[in-house]
Amino acid sequence: MPAKILDGKTLASNVRKELKHEIALIKEQGGSLPRMVNIMIGDDDGTCAYAKSQKKVATDIGIDYELKVLKEEITQKEFIQVLKELNADKSINGIMIHKPVPEQIDYVEAASYVDPLKDLEGINTVNIGKMILSETNIIPCTPASVMEHLKSTGESLRGKEVVVIGHSTIVGRPLSMLLLDQMATVTVCHLATSEAGKLTEHIARADILIVAVGKASLIKGEWIKPGAIVIDVGINLHEGKIVGDVEFDSAQERASYITPVPGGVGPVTVVMLMRNALEALKMQNRVNQKK
Ligand code: NAD
Repeated sequence: MPAKILDGKTLASNVRKELKHEIALIKEQGGSLPRMVNIMIGDDDGTCAYAKSQKKVATDIGIDYELKVLKEEITQKEFIQVLKELNADKSINGIMIHKPVPEQIDYVEAASYVDPLKDLEGINTVNIGKMILSETNIIPCTPASVMEHLKSTGESLRGKEVVVIGHSTIVGRPLSMLLLDQMATVTVCHLATSEAGKLTEHIARADILIVAVGKASLIKGEWIKPGAIVIDVGINLHEGKIVGDVEFDSAQERASYITPVPGGVGPVTVVMLMRNALEALKMQNRVNQKK
């Protein structure tokens, strides 16, 4: 039997409804609503389209969304000053920095200036540290989307062999921590695993396979363990079409569940950003109550 499709659009719409409901309750009780700022350096057309779709989702949920466009030639010092001003602005609950940033900007350093209580992407060193200690609800959005997809299958991760391919700081590494939280047995593979000729042997024992590489159809269906859950994070433009890192048709014949590309991990990632905006607001309210 072919794998069931993990439909990201439906999952995203369900989470959206939950967030919308929660925000409507806050409004009813007279509480302040989440307000987020997306900082974009330079006026890139692709980024702008992405920001427009983010705004649409935010507005629908009840989150006030502002796109702040900074000049392309901004210096690191000036950028950090903008971040400090946004940190100090009490009307703003959440900040995100849109990537890519120009060459003169040190993204990691800049991200460390975002107030950890307003860090919507969970990329600040403080929040990454807290995530490793399982002490924060602000989780990087793409790993959070992968976890939401796994949750939607209803399968327990406890003791399962999970193989993650890709060890980037935005996907593979934080994801491996979230999987460990669920008591999965986690193997993280990367370029050197392929170079050592060991990728297929890891894939063959994966009950759950998560691929975040960025190479069209790198993973062949015949490598996948029958009945495995396959989550494809990759987004690649190949012969004019958007495809994932997994060869979809052959993988669908082997897997029990599979995410499509497009329409799998991506739509849920956007909603995870909104969930972080709400979590940030709740965190700030808790901190203010303690004062
Ligand atoms: P990255 O370039 O930072 O990391 C790529 C990883 O793949 C590295 O760990 C590298 O060692 C590994 N790799 C490269 N070639 C390999 C090979 N032949 N065999 C095994 N491992 C190999 O990439 P990233 O930023 O983590 O993004 C990965 C993919 O996920 C991209 O296609 C990106 O567009 C996509 N992505 C999707 C979302 C989403 O929301 N759907 C979000 C972020 C990234």
